[in-house]
Amino acid sequence: MAHDIFALVDCNSFYASCEKVFNPQLADKPVGILSNNDGIIVALSPELKRLGITRGTPGFKIDKQLIRKHDIKIFSSNYALYGDMSNRVMQTLTQFTPDIEIYSIDEAFLSLSGFEYLNFSDYGRKIRDTVWKWTGLPVSIGIGPTKTLAKVANRFAKKHSFIENVFDITDHPNKDKILRWIEVEHIWGVGRQYAKMLRRNGIENAFQLSQAPDKWVQNKMTIMGLRMVKELRGISCIDLEMDIEPKKEIVSSRSFGTPVTEFRDMQEATAAHCTRAVKKLRTEKQVASQITVFLTTNRFKNEPQYANYATARLPLPSAYTPDFLKAASKILKNLFRPGYKYKKTGVMISDIMNQSKAPLDLFEPTYLDDHRKTIMDCMDDINEKMGSGKLTYAATGIKQPWQMKREKLTPGYTTSWSHIPVVKAC
Ligand SMILES: [Mg+2]
Repeated sequence: MAHDIFALVDCNSFYASCEKVFNPQLADKPVGILSNNDGIIVALSPELKRLGITRGTPGFKIDKQLIRKHDIKIFSSNYALYGDMSNRVMQTLTQFTPDIEIYSIDEAFLSLSGFEYLNFSDYGRKIRDTVWKWTGLPVSIGIGPTKTLAKVANRFAKKHSFIENVFDITDHPNKDKILRWIEVEHIWGVGRQYAKMLRRNGIENAFQLSQAPDKWVQNKMTIMGLRMVKELRGISCIDLEMDIEPKKEIVSSRSFGTPVTEFRDMQEATAAHCTRAVKKLRTEKQVASQITVFLTTNRFKNEPQYANYATARLPLPSAYTPDFLKAASKILKNLFRPGYKYKKTGVMISDIMNQSKAPLDLFEPTYLDDHRKTIMDCMDDINEKMGSGKLTYAATGIKQPWQMKREKLTPGYTTSWSHIPVVKAC
């Protein structure tokens, strides 16, 4: 029987690395990325970690002197850049196998089953070098006979620089030793509660867990826990999840940079969220027939509170932005109450299906068979060429004073033509 073999490819310090790709001056600098509205540090480069800064530190709390001394660079989250770089990494990975599960923005499982004639470590190094060459991003690769062991191998590869970021744990002579080094908290699929329970029962590392009796594991951690333990023993129980189910809903929402009190600002923000969500729907070749708008004040502030939402249905599934804008505007007029300081608004699109499965209608032209699809495709094309947001709806406003705070935002190096770095050769 052919063995399963998996590789977990994970970008190192993904957000910080993305910033470094387009700004060579950052190469050895400590780099930190802030959360929405420039709140806390959510991602750090290894140089910043070494200075003792941790995830979750509020940006403003970092010592000014430390910043000056080590030339620390702090940036707002540049989601357009990270999303685009993520796509590039995933595209690159599909060169190496068709069987790929995109696990998160910076992680993917690859199945290498059927490639047994290769030396997996060599293949891993080739993947690492290609991603580096094509995207400028460093990755770590863990290889193993199960997804859980590939995760273990990946962690080991990251923590030990002599391995140069590629490690195959399959048949490795020190496999048990490595499993002993993995604490229960760091095993894929073990949450905080399970970790506590395991430690209470004297199980502190992955090796000990792999030796626990099946019955005990199933009793304490259900059948899912047993699958995980079998995976630690090298028996593959968790397959790649490649069939991407259509999303159940698409949400676009964000806190305002400063509280919003005016209906007009609220209307613009809602329209902008609506535009973004419907664009996403089209990117995934889907249509939807339900839209929900919600808004809320800041419940942590000692001021009058109000939160509400409402839903509307479209007559037919659509991906035509104006259909949704019209519905959203109608909902908002009913929801909005003057006299409050709003913190957030958002739009959720639901009842989603693939465009190919949309029902036909005898009396009304559907999204696919009239001019609406052509107009949308045209608009998406222009925005792709000219930079996203170049062509948009007046309803989303021009100045957008409600936008979230992103004072330290880097350019959209890869998503906007006007931000492309210029190289001068002398
Ligand atoms: Mg990562």
